[in-house]
Amino acid sequence: MPTYRALLVTKTDDGFSKNLVERSIDDLPEGDLLIEVQYSSVNYKDALSASGNPGVSRNFPHQPGIDAAGVVLESASADFATGDDVIVIGYDLGMNTAGGFGQRIRVPAGWAIKRPAGLSARESMIIGTAGFTAGLCVQKLERAGLTKGSGEVLVTGGTGGVGSVAIALLSKLGHDVVAVSGKPQKEAFLKSLGAQSIISREEASDGGGKRPMLKERWAGVVDTVGGDILAAALKSLRYGASAAICGMVQSADLPTSVFPFILRDISLLGVDSVELPLATKSAMWDRLAGDWKLAELDSLATEIELDGLPDALDAILAGKLAGRTLVKVS
Ligand code: NDP
Repeated sequence: MPTYRALLVTKTDDGFSKNLVERSIDDLPEGDLLIEVQYSSVNYKDALSASGNPGVSRNFPHQPGIDAAGVVLESASADFATGDDVIVIGYDLGMNTAGGFGQRIRVPAGWAIKRPAGLSARESMIIGTAGFTAGLCVQKLERAGLTKGSGEVLVTGGTGGVGSVAIALLSKLGHDVVAVSGKPQKEAFLKSLGAQSIISREEASDGGGKRPMLKERWAGVVDTVGGDILAAALKSLRYGASAAICGMVQSADLPTSVFPFILRDISLLGVDSVELPLATKSAMWDRLAGDWKLAELDSLATEIELDGLPDALDAILAGKLAGRTLVKVS
């Protein structure tokens, strides 16, 4: 019986354990495409899955990994042939369906896109779900009216996966970027991505202050953290500006009032990368492989192999990773 290597999360009496194991292809679910995974990446959601967060994964033992880039080995779909290079992100991959932290996945054809020619498998996974989501956030701001020269754009969770790619992308597009970061030692990294200045998490928050609005400053916001930092950012959005939000590493709460919305005409733009229609995903990948392709992709990445995943997953949950962690799987 053919086997492959994977990270397997198992429920134990004490919680959840993460081990590298050999699995059988027969352990994979039914699906149209059997894929050899070449690269994956580490996302915050993977750490939630691997620590048994029931909002992400409920069925154990489980092979996490919400990102995968690889080659089709077997196809039952007319849309894909053996040898096609594909990217699979989102939908149920790595949640309750075996994900990219294994050398094989089997998925519905409706979850896969053909990898654009402008991106290698490695580059696509340096971007991964986090970078893809950064792209969606920037696109939403752009469609809401953010243009070059509009003014400073704030990115929260600056050294994180979404934050770091958002900084690089906004900077490439000519925006003045201010990063929020809790890692003063990463100032040089953030500046190398294009952040013009960096403020601490404390400076970015008004501590849940009672003032309904603060001085206008931001022409746009990409927020990955939620909580007081997002609330303060909304109070400082310029008249008519927007905040694109995708995450909640600080808090899922949003302690705010209606005032910035009804007095400054601001907008809150929610961003989801998971259930987005495939055609929309495909169009974003084309952008990231085309005129939005980042020259500094390599400098964003730390490369590990499957063996390095247990430590990397603990580190991202503790907010200790910086940039993108790429996983060489096969
Ligand atoms: P990372 O862990 O890579 O980055 C998060 C960053 O937030 C950290 O690096 C850190 O940056 C900062 N941070 C950590 N803890 C706190 C805290 N308590 N308060 C304020 N800032 C903090 O995660 P990702 O970038 O991969 O994901 C960010 C968020 O976006 C997550 O909530 C994730 O689930 C969500 N997400 C949502 C998607 C969607 O489709 N909606 C898709 C992808 C991600 P620093 O030290 O520089 O401040």
